[in-house]
Amino acid sequence: MKIKIIGSGNAFSMINFNVSYVLEEDNKKLLVDCGGRVPLALMNSGYKLTDIDAIYISHAHADHIGGLEEFAFTRYDWMLRPRSWDDYKFNGDGRRPYMDPKVSYKPYAPQIIANEKLLKDLWDSSLKGGLCSMEGFDSTIETFFEPVPIGANIPFYWPDKDGWQFQLIQQIHIMAGSTIMPTYGIVLSKPDHKTVYITTDSQHCSPKQIEIFYKQADMIFQDCECSGVDTKNRKFVFGSGVHASYAQLAGWESANSTKLSADIKAKMLLTHYQDFVSKFKDGFGNDCDWYKLAAEDGFKGFVAVGETYEI
Ligand SMILES: [Zn+2]
Repeated sequence: MKIKIIGSGNAFSMINFNVSYVLEEDNKKLLVDCGGRVPLALMNSGYKLTDIDAIYISHAHADHIGGLEEFAFTRYDWMLRPRSWDDYKFNGDGRRPYMDPKVSYKPYAPQIIANEKLLKDLWDSSLKGGLCSMEGFDSTIETFFEPVPIGANIPFYWPDKDGWQFQLIQQIHIMAGSTIMPTYGIVLSKPDHKTVYITTDSQHCSPKQIEIFYKQADMIFQDCECSGVDTKNRKFVFGSGVHASYAQLAGWESANSTKLSADIKAKMLLTHYQDFVSKFKDGFGNDCDWYKLAAEDGFKGFVAVGETYEI
């Protein structure tokens, strides 16, 4: 399988899009996360929205789902949609129009794969706001996508049952009051191939809990926040709290974090970083060669848009 980096920026990146990957196997393409800048990122990497067969969603922040509305409207088959009242079928009450289930209205609809609860929330709390307004009928997520809900602790296989195993790794992204908003990272594995862990957005608060996945992976695409990191003085000044900070991952004393072992760090490719990283600055205006710094701190490095990893 090929993993193409089409975005490596944080939520508000103006130069590296939003973190996103296109996984290619047997001429099939799976997009991992679809933030608001991802349709542009796809074009930048030479893809069309119609090239994508399936989209995996890790959590419902806009920098991971904001591009889905564009996907939905672009891929929707406007020729086959109900076009007049004569095209509608009617249900029991004789009034409410619905779409004939025998007719395929969505031959170009991509699969949307996510944890089952997340998938439901995705429509009810996010997508519905923009996508429910279709002329003349009530749309649902099925109008635009082929939803593939994944139950707890159940892996899925892609592109087919003999393909790669995708194990969903739930981790804490945000503690909102007493409510945990999880993210669902993924571990990709297949016999005789490399095992890859894509953490997606997550805190560096449970490294012991996920250590087993860090250890079994040959390559780790790691969420890494660089704001609040004073590189000149190697000092952790602040963090958003919802992402793993570079200083925490590196194990700087000022970060007072659980230390990662050298062999885990050596497998880590850092992503979801701020634009100043690409401009060789830190968030305090200091000059910083982050690639050199990452090497000194024992990381495999930072990912960059345009890279391809063969696994
Ligand atoms: Zn997030």
